[in-house]
Amino acid sequence: MTTITSIRSICTAPADIRLVVVKVETSEPGLTGLGCATFTQRPLAVVEAVDKYLAPFLIGRNVSEIEDIYQSAQLSSYWREGPVLNNALSGVDMALWDIKGKQAGIPVHDLLGGKCRKAARVYVHASGNSIDETVDQAQQHIENGFTHVRLQSAVPGQSTYGTNTDLHTHETIDGPTTPQNVFGPADYVRLAPKLFEVARDRLGWEVELLHDVHERIPPYLAIQLARDLEPYRLFFYEDALPPEEIEYFRQMRQQSSIPIAMGELFVSLKQCMPLIEERLIDYIRVHLSMIGGMTPARKLATICEAFGIRTAWHGPGDCSPIGHAANLALDMVSPNFGIQEFTPYNQATLDVFPGCNNLRDGCIWPNDRPGWGIEIDEALAKEFPFPDHPYNGAWPAIRDRDGGIIRP
Ligand SMILES: [Mg+2]
Repeated sequence: MTTITSIRSICTAPADIRLVVVKVETSEPGLTGLGCATFTQRPLAVVEAVDKYLAPFLIGRNVSEIEDIYQSAQLSSYWREGPVLNNALSGVDMALWDIKGKQAGIPVHDLLGGKCRKAARVYVHASGNSIDETVDQAQQHIENGFTHVRLQSAVPGQSTYGTNTDLHTHETIDGPTTPQNVFGPADYVRLAPKLFEVARDRLGWEVELLHDVHERIPPYLAIQLARDLEPYRLFFYEDALPPEEIEYFRQMRQQSSIPIAMGELFVSLKQCMPLIEERLIDYIRVHLSMIGGMTPARKLATICEAFGIRTAWHGPGDCSPIGHAANLALDMVSPNFGIQEFTPYNQATLDVFPGCNNLRDGCIWPNDRPGWGIEIDEALAKEFPFPDHPYNGAWPAIRDRDGGIIRP
């Protein structure tokens, strides 16, 4: 029997984004696994949950019992779920899938039933401080072979999600009263249709365009914007509503034909069920480590298949290459795969994580090595410590013109 001998967190930021990876070591010499536990706004809380709680609870367990380890570790806190505990659990869970693949000598996608496509088509981000800058970036992506592009453009003078005016992407934070913290929902919903009008004029109709509202506007404006964007035939319209307002999806569905994507803020499989059961969304966007890892995510993918909902797993920069590999494993085996969000790696990330999945022709390609087929160079990872940040990675407040708080 192969048992767990050590569980520990590794913190690194090769692209200046706080990543947490969990390494599980075993009684079999040289057999180790890696899992993604990245919650970039609360990374240190996840590290504590892994090192102080999961490690003592799970050392000595049989590595082959992934489902039982998942269930027992989750219940060991009595109060369960939430992004901190789920990410900690995901770190261990994904590492055990990595180990199982290495023991079998096959990639995780083969453990899950085998490939039903050759590669996963991705979408990338075009984010500008003006409409023209955004569309220029999209043009560049298309020239580089991408077929799906998310467009985000700043409202002049405001902190707008997905652009470099947004404070959480800034290295320095001046506090909640600077003009950059301001975001006017009405200003934004006036600008967004213009962005897509210009984009269709300049880019044509063959490229697939996407947009992320990031839950920043009230429900009535989200429904209005869905209707206003309909003429531009978006691939999907993302996070128009926050998790607290999911009842409004029923109204959005009744009033608009726009394809709807939702889910990166969900922290459990069960939370997704009302939207799935009523077929109120077209794409599920869960962040795998936020719901606890591969074990719950593979069940979610299959549930969605039964309801005709496609997958579009969350894949921003605050997802480690191990997390991206887990996304890709599900992309490869799911008949209901829709699209994969992806953020191309910088050279430092490629060096810290040897074996990263290849990006070419607008797709990511599995490496076909056992497990995730990705390792971590721990000595090099230490050379990229978490960058200094006044709130250790937490997002600053964003406010409406009257000072009222806006969702991030
Ligand atoms: Mg998003």
